[in-house]
Amino acid sequence: MSANQRPRPSEETDSSDESGILNERVLVLVFEFLKWDIHSLCQTASVSRRLRAISKRILWKNLCFYRAPRMVGALTGQVSSNVRIGGGWPALAKLLYFCCGCQSTRNFPINEQLPGHFVNATRFSKTSGQSFLTKKCRGDLLYVSDPCEHPPTGAREDDLGIYRGVFRGFNRSRTRACLISRQVALEESTRCPYCRVRVWSMTAARLIPRSAAKRLGSDGGLEYFVCLNGHFYGACWLVPLSSEEEEEEDDEEV
Ligand SMILES: [Zn+2]
Ligand SMILES: [Zn+2]
Repeated sequence: MSANQRPRPSEETDSSDESGILNERVLVLVFEFLKWDIHSLCQTASVSRRLRAISKRILWKNLCFYRAPRMVGALTGQVSSNVRIGGGWPALAKLLYFCCGCQSTRNFPINEQLPGHFVNATRFSKTSGQSFLTKKCRGDLLYVSDPCEHPPTGAREDDLGIYRGVFRGFNRSRTRACLISRQVALEESTRCPYCRVRVWSMTAARLIPRSAAKRLGSDGGLEYFVCLNGHFYGACWLVPLSSEEEEEEDDEEV
């Protein structure tokens, strides 16, 4: 190799402080190879402050777009690049893969607290989301998951269903406008399990339509919350289904 074929020093030292795994492009390639495995990304983000920052800025967003392209595209109105999302990308990634469990609340008392857990696959649907909105708010776009079924606890024999979801552009949504105009108070002690901000109880706000229980296959015992960033989660008692529901065309399994 002659002198003028060698890489110039400036090219060699371009990323001297971002060598190997700390180089963002290398990290993206590694995670593409790993098909954006969430467990690997959780581990990577907990190694150092530097990797946590890179994950927060780039990797969690890429994971969301890779694992749920249609849903995340609909939520952001874009296909990739410099786009933000309410509550941040780590919170959305957690929402895609983590059932938040259930705590006893004043409107939905249960005997024991159920811890959250990772889930392998979840189907999110915007048609399902419409069932959780009152008529006035149906112009909003809300994705909601199928309920994660937990075995009976205490005296009750029904399964407990825990579900989660997310609004598009919650700050401009009809649901938020409705909560504000009704002067619904934020819950005192409950925080969003995905982004830790305060939440509204839709039960307390009397904004739960009958279609929600029907959609979930519940006898009506249910509660759900919406946080200031537009994350949605709740629990219900499930009654045994008599027939299988048809597949939705707009759903996305992540
Ligand atoms: Zn669960
Ligand atoms: Zn939240």
